[in-house]
This record gives sequence, structure tokens and C-alpha cells, in this order.
Amino acid sequence: MLAGDAAHIVPPTGAKGMNLALADVRRLAPALAAAVLEGDGRLLDAYSDACLRRIWRAEEFSTYMTQMLHPHPSDDFENGVQLARLRQAVTVRSATETLARNYVDLSSIDLAGG
Ligand SMILES: Cc1cc2nc3c(=O)[nH]c(=O)nc-3n(C[C@H](O)[C@H](O)[C@H](O)COP(=O)(O)OP(=O)(O)OC[C@H]3O[C@@H](n4cnc5c(N)ncnc54)[C@H](O)[C@@H]3O)c2cc1C
Repeated sequence: MLAGDAAHIVPPTGAKGMNLALADVRRLAPALAAAVLEGDGRLLDAYSDACLRRIWRAEEFSTYMTQMLHPHPSDDFENGVQLARLRQAVTVRSATETLARNYVDLSSIDLAGG
């Protein structure tokens, strides 16, 4: 079984790496216990699919953040798009809330089944 950075080919930026690693282990530990102690492998079988949904969600957010915050000195189009995204993130309440929720809490995805 893989967990943490070993499983996430691109460690996501935005304070996600360690948190995703811990979330993986939080699922993996009871799955291993059930398999070893009770001979029930169902949680282990479901482990990767359950984690990947959360991981890809975090990768998407990290990609969005990285593209929004890293300047492209020689690309006026990309710079214009970045500024539009930043302005939206700080002026449109729903956009601000979405950014904040993605930054600090992806647990609802995990609770929804991975
Ligand atoms: C500069 C920086 C800042 C970061 N900031 C944050 C942050 O603010 N928030 C956040 O959530 N994440 C952050 N991260 C990411 C976070 O550190 C990693 O995602 C997290 O440590 C991954 O944990 P892990 O247990 O999967 O891997 P690791 O922490 O890399 O642990 C793997 C361990 O395995 C050991 N090892 C390797 N090969 C072998 C071997 N053959 N035999 C035995 N042992 C071996 C290594 O020595 C290491 O101790 C940051 C990372 C960096 C580099």
C-alpha cells in the first residue's frame, strides 16, 4: 500500500502534502487492522479509490493556486488572466469562501466517501 508523498506523484503545494499524508494514514490504519486482525480486506480493497478522489481534488486546487500566484513575466495574456483570478478571489464573496474552504478543509470530500 502507498501513502503520503510516495503515493502523490506531484506533492501538492499550499500546505497540502503532510495533511494529505495524514489523511491517507487515517484511512489506511483501520483498513490494515481490519485485514490483519479480522481477516476483512474490504477497507483495504477500497483504500486507493477512496483516497484518490481527495488527492485529485487537492491537486486541482494546488494547480489553481500555483497558476494564480506564479507570474509569467513574458506572457501578457497569462498575467491578465492571473490578475482577473486574483481580483475575483478577493472581491467576490463566493470565490473567497471557496478558496478558503479548499485551503483549510477538504474533509467534506473525505466524509462524502473519499
Ligand atoms: C519546504 C517544504 C515545506 C512544506 N510545507 C508543508 C506544509 O506547510 N504543510 C503540509 O501539509 N505539507 C508541507 N510540506 C510537505 C510535507 O513535508 C510532505 O508532504 C510530508 O512530509 C510527506 O510525508 P511522508 O511521510 O509521505 O514522506 P516523508 O516525510 O518524506 O517521509 C519519508 C521518510 O522515509 C524515509 N526513507 C526514504 N527512503 C527510505 C528507505 N529506503 N528506508 C527507510 N526509510 C526511508 C525518509 O528519510 C523519510 O523520513 C512541505 C514540504 C517541503 C519540502
